[in-house]
Amino acid sequence: MSSLLAGDWHLVMSLKRNDDGFRSTGGLQDRLRRQRERRAARREEETGASTGAKRQRRTPAERKSGAPGRGSRRSFRASDEDRRWSDSNASPVPRRARSKRPGPAPSEHAIEFHQNDIDPGAKKVVQRLTRAGYEAYLVGGCVRDLLVGKSPKDFDVATSARPEEVRALFRNSRIIGRRFRLVHVLFPQRHVIETATFRRNPPKASSADDDDLLIRSDNFFGEAHEDALRRDFTINALFYDVDRARVLDWVGGMAHIQSTTIDTIGEPAVRFQEDPIRMLRAIKFAARLDFGIEPRVYDAAVQCRGCLAMAARPRLSEEILRLMRGGASQRSMWLLWEMGMMDILLPELSAYLADQEDDADFWQLLAALDQRIARDGEAPNDILLGAVLLAEPLAESSEGKRDRARAIGRSLEPMIERLALPRRQADGVRRILTMAPKVRSGRGKRFQKSEFYGLTQQLFDLQNRAKERLSGSRRRADDSLDAEEAAASKG
Ligand code: ATP
Ligand code: MG
Repeated sequence: MSSLLAGDWHLVMSLKRNDDGFRSTGGLQDRLRRQRERRAARREEETGASTGAKRQRRTPAERKSGAPGRGSRRSFRASDEDRRWSDSNASPVPRRARSKRPGPAPSEHAIEFHQNDIDPGAKKVVQRLTRAGYEAYLVGGCVRDLLVGKSPKDFDVATSARPEEVRALFRNSRIIGRRFRLVHVLFPQRHVIETATFRRNPPKASSADDDDLLIRSDNFFGEAHEDALRRDFTINALFYDVDRARVLDWVGGMAHIQSTTIDTIGEPAVRFQEDPIRMLRAIKFAARLDFGIEPRVYDAAVQCRGCLAMAARPRLSEEILRLMRGGASQRSMWLLWEMGMMDILLPELSAYLADQEDDADFWQLLAALDQRIARDGEAPNDILLGAVLLAEPLAESSEGKRDRARAIGRSLEPMIERLALPRRQADGVRRILTMAPKVRSGRGKRFQKSEFYGLTQQLFDLQNRAKERLSGSRRRADDSLDAEEAAASKG
């Protein structure tokens, strides 16, 4: 990176964000404008290309429809913000004469989201890409969440531009990933818009073992409709065309948004064997969105649950944490247990739950966690989540043991192995659960300096709330039973 560019980076990073987007002070504005002019002049000298040529470009959609190009001043004119973010030092992006394989037409749904609902950075990325002649859409979780009225966690963009081409359009970007390269377009305050080139399902491996469906490499560029088909669930495969305010649907996802259904794209058993993590994702979305799981998808997950043992272990533990973090941990863990996946991932917890009542402390503790996440708008630290998940079974397994820490450590060992739990995390859980009974009984003064003391207090807080919930729900159950009996005796 030249020193000019490096210096400019700081200028860009120092821009202040306000409600209208990114604004700079007047002085900064002038410096940037002068730099832009110098670069434009230099670029013209170097390439002989005029910026005017770029303006005449038309998007593929415009070319197809014969519509006038975006050279028409009104539609092309980039805003000050756009220009500020552009890499005017890069040569004009060549739109590759990459032939577009004809594909099926999507069903289109005109839907205009509220201006404030779409992340301004994501919008800029999509618009700059389309103005440079590429296809670009908002995709995945953000479209799904906007459609169900939730505020998206993050905004992802999919495009026909290759990573280097995206990189060339956004100086404030970097290519990440070795196996599949994505571009992170960086905005102030560490805000990142992940921009991925359309991919397609990998061609069927010519493996000797036809039963082995596990996908080991999915590094194949494709077209938009192929990118939709490679995704996991229909509700996650909707593309949003920002300029035309339309949802493009190749997979029937809109119908499933309306019917609040989780359904896979293609045969569920095949999709789950290709990537077993998708079974946990089905649970995550069903629980978080309060959607139903299509019966054939549910049955396939029950049938394929053994494949979870073949998934990469860090992905499994991360996905379990996501189930805990999503604000619907009670529903998630219930589904995990009911569908038999907990037997594979956490058999210790599964065995413990088999002996408990349906309204046991464990379920109330998860409900208290969900309430806390709803209140705070964010999930607590992963170590506390681990302690919440394992407090009950580990307390049971170490009950009456003289060396509690050792007993808990022993019980944790197979879980660390099975899920590749990070040592630090497992150690934190062990220490919280070891000190908890002593702190609770007032004999834990010596733990006050422990880095996990605060988390132990937070666990107590959740456990107290769980107890209140439990006694409340049992009281309500008793009251309604009394009312029923009274009505019956009157009758
Ligand atoms: P969240 O709100 O939890 O981030 P998300 O749907 O955005 O939900 P991500 O893990 O961020 O989930 O993935 C982004 C998109 O990538 C998904 O919406 C989906 O289309 C696709 N995707 C993610 N994981 C898989 C997978 N295992 N198999 C197929 N497609 C996947
Ligand atoms: Mg996401």
